[in-house]
Amino acid sequence: MTSGQAPSLQTELKRCPELWFDDGTIIIRAEDTLFRVYAGQLSRCSPVFKDTFSLPQPPLADGVNELYEGCPLVVLNDSAADIEAFLLAIFDVQCCLKTKDNVVFDNICSFASILRISTKYEAAMIRSQVLRSCLKAFPYTWRTAKKSHFFLEGYLFTTNRAICNSGKIFAFANVARETESNLLLPFLLYLCCRFELPLILDGAISSGEHAILNPENMRSVLVGRRILEHHAITDLMTKLSSHTADLPGHDDKFSTGIRCKNKILGLMIARSSLPKNLLFHDPLCPSPKYSTRRRVLATMCNSCAKWLDDTIELCKKDVWERIPAIFGLDC
Ligand SMILES: [Zn+2]
Repeated sequence: MTSGQAPSLQTELKRCPELWFDDGTIIIRAEDTLFRVYAGQLSRCSPVFKDTFSLPQPPLADGVNELYEGCPLVVLNDSAADIEAFLLAIFDVQCCLKTKDNVVFDNICSFASILRISTKYEAAMIRSQVLRSCLKAFPYTWRTAKKSHFFLEGYLFTTNRAICNSGKIFAFANVARETESNLLLPFLLYLCCRFELPLILDGAISSGEHAILNPENMRSVLVGRRILEHHAITDLMTKLSSHTADLPGHDDKFSTGIRCKNKILGLMIARSSLPKNLLFHDPLCPSPKYSTRRRVLATMCNSCAKWLDDTIELCKKDVWERIPAIFGLDC
C-alpha cells in the first residue's frame, strides 16, 4: 500500500475539499491530493485499511515525520480520482451508489473507480453495493435487461449520452475483468461489440487517457462480435420462415394473408445480409428505429403483428441467454 520510497511532501499538495474533515483522524495521500477522513470508519469498511492503520508508516524520504499537521499520513499508490470516488462512497451520504441506471452511465468513471478500489482493499459492502448499482445499467438477466434504459428503443442512438463514449465503455469493461465482476461483463462486452471495428481495434479516449480493451476482452469482443452477427441473420430468418399466409388467428378483415406474409418476407430480405458499412449487425436491436417497426406492424393484421413481435422478442431472449457463452465467460 505504501510505496517503498514514500514521495516527498515537498511536492505541491492539494486538499480535496469534499473529503477534508478538520477533526478527521487520518490523512490519505494519493498522487498529489490529500484526504482527511476517519480511520475508524474506513477500518470498518476495509480489513486492508484496518491492518494498514495499525502498522507504523515508513518515514518520508526527506526525513519529514509521517505526521502531517499532527495527523497520521498514509500514502497510497492509487490514482487520486480512484481514491476520491471510493472515499465519497463511504463518507458522502449523497453518494451516487444508490441510483438509477442512467446515473451510472453519466458517472461511469466514478463507478469504475469505486469498483477497482473496493476490490483492491477488500471493502466487501461497498463492492456489493457498487455492483448492485452497476447491474441496473449493465443488466445480467433478460428480465432486468428489458427494463433498463438501454432497451428503451433509440436510447443508444442519442450521441450525446455518456453511453456512446466508447473509451469509457472500454475502460469500464477492463475494470470489470480485472475485478472479476463477471456478471457485468456480458452486457459490457456486448456494448463494445456495437462500436465500429476500427474503433474497437484502435481504442478511444476516456478521461484524457487512451483506453483500449485488454487482451482478454479484445479476444472476447472480436470472436463474440462475429458470432452475434451470425445469430442476427440466421436466428430471425429461421423463426420468420415458419410464418405462413394462413397463420392461425390471421384476420382477413385487416389484411390479406399474402400481404402479412409479404411484409415478413420483406423483413427477412432486409435482415439477410451484413450491412455495407462497418456497423454491427445487432441481434438484440433488429429494428433500430422503433417507428419503422411500428409502421411495418401497422400494415399487418393484429394476429400476425403480435406473432412477429413475439418472434423477434423470442430471438432476442435466446441470444441474450447465450451471450456469456458467446464471450467465453464462466458466469
Ligand atoms: Zn395476418
